[in-house]
Amino acid sequence: TKKFHGKKALVTGATSGIGRAIAVKLAQEGATVYVTGRRAELGKETVELIEQAGGTGHFVVADVGDLDDVRKLAQEVGDVDVLVNNAGIFPFSPTPEQSVEDYDRVFDVNVRGTYFLTAALAPAMVAKGKGVIVNVSSVAGQLGSPVGSVYHASKAAMDGLTRSWASEFGGSGVRVNSVAPGPIRTDAAVTQAGEIFEQFANVVPLGRAGEPEEIAETVVFVASDGAGFINGAVINVDGGLVTV
Ligand code: NAD
Repeated sequence: TKKFHGKKALVTGATSGIGRAIAVKLAQEGATVYVTGRRAELGKETVELIEQAGGTGHFVVADVGDLDDVRKLAQEVGDVDVLVNNAGIFPFSPTPEQSVEDYDRVFDVNVRGTYFLTAALAPAMVAKGKGVIVNVSSVAGQLGSPVGSVYHASKAAMDGLTRSWASEFGGSGVRVNSVAPGPIRTDAAVTQAGEIFEQFANVVPLGRAGEPEEIAETVVFVASDGAGFINGAVINVDGGLVTV
């Protein structure tokens, strides 16, 4: 039988890129996957990809930057075995030019959405004595860049949540980890991060950017019983970028 047979997973921001690859991979491994994001047509495309791969998927529309949506999402999906907090935005700006609106939006989506969706779904995991939460942060949480201060800080915050939640929920058998991607060739990263993306990709010791499927492989492993003693870790999947 497949690793995630009979399990239910929720992946945020699964309408494209890394989240979509994670949703498809979890479904291939047998999970029933709830795909969430803001855009229904793209969510339905992810569900179609899941079905083509022989899996089961459902789309629920939600903006994780909106707390009412987060609560409705948690109610609609109900208890899950695996929660993947992947939704994230990365607008870049030099600090003196940073707008308050973009600052708030980055923290609302990347941090507050992650926080309150986890707050809504962790209690059922704790009650069952098992469950896995994976935060898709970034090596940006461990590095600096000249124009990404808010994004970098938000990803460091996600890793901070990972460590506290590993401590808070670990005693109830619930594991919480971050998977921190390096530069991964998604449409959004290439178009929105452009120059910065290529600068980072060019210094990766393995000599290339990563693919969304390589993050999905790691998330699936971290969420599996094979990773049963991994808790509170930040697992870099970056071709060695942070060693440079
Ligand atoms: P992406 O834009 O394709 O994926 C982000 C997803 O989140 C999209 O589907 C988007 O629609 C969704 N999203 C954004 N705001 C949302 C909101 N308010 N509510 C619900 N969904 C929302 O980009 P990606 O490259 O696949 O990035 C996925 C995650 O990986 C992000 O958290 C990103 O920070 C992280 N990451 C990406 C890279 C990279 O190089 N691609 C590197 C490190 C970390």
